[in-house]
Amino acid sequence: MNQPSAGDAERPPEATASISTSADRKLPVDPTERVWLGFDLGGTKMNAVLFDRKFEALARRKKKTRGAEGAAAGIERIRSSIEKLLEESKVEPNRLGGIGVGCPGPLDLNEGVILAAPNLGWRDVPLKKILEKEFGCPVWICNDVDAGVYGEYRFGAAVGARTALGVFPGTGIGGGMVYEGKIFRGKKSSCMEIGHIPVVADGAVCGCGRRGCLETVASRLALSAEIAKAAYRGQAPYLLRVAGTDLANIRSGTIKESIDGGDEVVEGIMKDGAKLLGMALAGTVNLLAPDVIVLGGGLVEALPKLYLDEVGKSLSKHVMPSYEKTFELKTAKLGDDAGTMGAAAWARYCVEG
Ligand SMILES: [Zn+2]
Repeated sequence: MNQPSAGDAERPPEATASISTSADRKLPVDPTERVWLGFDLGGTKMNAVLFDRKFEALARRKKKTRGAEGAAAGIERIRSSIEKLLEESKVEPNRLGGIGVGCPGPLDLNEGVILAAPNLGWRDVPLKKILEKEFGCPVWICNDVDAGVYGEYRFGAAVGARTALGVFPGTGIGGGMVYEGKIFRGKKSSCMEIGHIPVVADGAVCGCGRRGCLETVASRLALSAEIAKAAYRGQAPYLLRVAGTDLANIRSGTIKESIDGGDEVVEGIMKDGAKLLGMALAGTVNLLAPDVIVLGGGLVEALPKLYLDEVGKSLSKHVMPSYEKTFELKTAKLGDDAGTMGAAAWARYCVEG
């Protein structure tokens, strides 16, 4: 393989300047030759996309995560995904400018360690170090929701925002924020855990172990449980027919279908959930004054109008009057690509500025 390097005598001297990286490796001389890899490590699937400098996708790979097989097997799947992507796209490994990985948390962002990923059953995985050693390029890990919000900020619904707040109601309720071009974070950890804002005193137990978090009343899991009860009581006949009362079958698409099919109780449950989301978001607006709020995730993709209307009304009702006209509420534009694009673009920002 003809791999350009800093010592490549055929290149003009000005083009041989290289920057040293945290992985102590020479990047390809011409920055326009660099490619960036975005990795979205989800609870059920892993998604890897190789991007060129303009963030056009060069190649994509999707695999099941199979977290239950353990961290070592998972890391091997991540490694082989990246390797195959590079092979397929015939990109020489030293053109890889960096790898960005959006991971479920909690994370140690400074060390690049997945501290605990309950959905995967992994603990203390030094992903940054492992991948840097394997691929010889800088690797940045970030929270998966932050990667998605950064993707929307760079390429989607929040381009140009000073403060972009993203909220993704799904199994849980993810939140993330980009402030003045950077992912807003804590000293070591990610933040913006909107789903865990307490909204009910002594409420139901949350997945995080505390009680009464927003997720316990407004996540898909919480709303599906209410919908299952309604179906059981005979109040949602369409849904009962197509999905039964099993929570696992009451997915975003089924909920939309049931509302379209005339299940008014289901529509009411979803509107109530969206209102509560709007109320918690109003508190966030009062704290952070975002200029763009992006709603995304499966539920919002299935019911964009319901979410925009109900969250919008609830925000107007609950934000301090002076903030009422200071933000735009939008739906996400990039869908599944937000995570990989965001992770890759974040890696590039961290390397090149
Ligand atoms: Zn919680």
